[in-house]
Amino acid sequence: MVIRAYYDDSYLRHLSGNVTAVDGEWIELDQTIFYPLGGGQPGDTGTIASKGGSRFKVLDTRKGETAGQVRHQLDTVDHGLVPGETVDTELDWDRRYKHMRMHTSMHLLGSLIPVPVTGGSVGADKSRLDFDLGNHQIDKEDLTARMNALVADAHPVAFGTITETELDERPELVRTMSVQPPRGAGDIRTVRIEGVDYQPCGGTHVNNTSEIGTVRVSKIENKGRRNRRVHLLLE
Ligand SMILES: [Zn+2]
Repeated sequence: MVIRAYYDDSYLRHLSGNVTAVDGEWIELDQTIFYPLGGGQPGDTGTIASKGGSRFKVLDTRKGETAGQVRHQLDTVDHGLVPGETVDTELDWDRRYKHMRMHTSMHLLGSLIPVPVTGGSVGADKSRLDFDLGNHQIDKEDLTARMNALVADAHPVAFGTITETELDERPELVRTMSVQPPRGAGDIRTVRIEGVDYQPCGGTHVNNTSEIGTVRVSKIENKGRRNRRVHLLLE
C-alpha cells in the first residue's frame, strides 16, 4: 500500500518516490503527496520529474480499484517511466492549499447547521454543501458572520484515527449521508476542530482555522422542499 504522505503532513509540497506501477498514463508511487479525488475534494495536480530530466504534468489523481491505491494521471503515455525508477514530485500548491482552506471551512459550516448533510463539493474557488434542512432556518449573512468568527477564533485542527469498529459504535459521528468514510483501507482518519467539530474525514485540511481567511456564504439555493444548497467563497 502506498504511503499517503499527504496525511502525515498536508503541507508537503515536494517529495521523492519510487515508481511502483505503470499503466499507460497512470503512474503509482511508493509514497505520494498527491491527494486522490474523494469525499467531495478534487484530486491533486502538479508535476513528476524523472532523474533523467524529463518533466510531466500530473493532470489528476485518483484512487485505484484496490484499497489504498493512488494513481497519478500524467499528460502523456510516452513518459518512459518504469517501475523502480526514482522521481521527484511537486504539487500545484496554490490549488491544493485552497482546497485545504475550503475543506476546513466546510467543517465550520457543517458545525453551524445541525442537520444531515446530503452532499458537497470542494473547489479551489467555490464550494457547496447540501443540507436536509427540514424546518431549520438559515440565513447567509448570519452564517457568514458566524463562520468568520470561527476563523478569527483560530481554533487548532487536530488529526487522529478511529477503527471501523469504533465508528460503527458511534454512527452519529458521520454527518454526511452520501459520503461515507472509505472502508477497507485500515483505520479511518478523524478531524477535530477544537471546540467546534469532530468527525471522520479523509480530506486535507489546514492546521488552524485562522488560515482559512475571510469566507462568505454567497448563496443559499432551494433544492426541494427540505433541501438547501449552501455556496461558499474564499475572499
Ligand atoms: Zn474534512
